[in-house]
Amino acid sequence: MFTCITNSPEETGHLAELVGQKIREGTVLCLEGDLGAGKTLFVQSLARTLGVEGDVTSPTFNLMNVYEGICRIYHFDLYRLETEEELDDIGFYEYTEEPEGIVVIEWPDKFPESMPEDYIEVRIRKIGEDSDVRQFDFASVGEKNQEFIKELELFVGAGH
Ligand code: ADP
Ligand code: MG
Repeated sequence: MFTCITNSPEETGHLAELVGQKIREGTVLCLEGDLGAGKTLFVQSLARTLGVEGDVTSPTFNLMNVYEGICRIYHFDLYRLETEEELDDIGFYEYTEEPEGIVVIEWPDKFPESMPEDYIEVRIRKIGEDSDVRQFDFASVGEKNQEFIKELELFVGAGH
């Protein structure tokens, strides 16, 4: 696990850009954090880095957006999801079990049992009230991304 602090939306954008430069196809990224933590902002910058040109907005109502960049990006937001069956209905497991492209999931903690075996967990926390400071905790869940998370730590730590 490693931690990064950002002091502004711009710094979060830069952090997501670094992650976007390193992330590999077939990776699932789960973004946890309260409303306003910065999950969607992170995804927007990640998607830009991966060559997405159109709008990147939170798929709160339609649950999933698909973007075309250098690879396909599947963006889920489970905030409004009420039952696990809905995940099945939208084909969630087909996208996440053996992912092509990159899968990002906001509010994975609503259905923890439904998350795949392997993913990168990003926990975002506001530090202090009414502040722009955010703490990002990156961790690998499962075996698959263990090495990658170490590489990412070095890359992000170096700042590039
Ligand atoms: P979420 O998807 O987690 O609900 P959003 O990304 O939609 O959150 O919104 C985050 C909000 O917090 C934005 O209005 C952004 O400008 C603001 N903000 C302030 N400081 C930061 C920071 N360090 N990182 C990310 N967002 C920040
Ligand atoms: Mg959001």
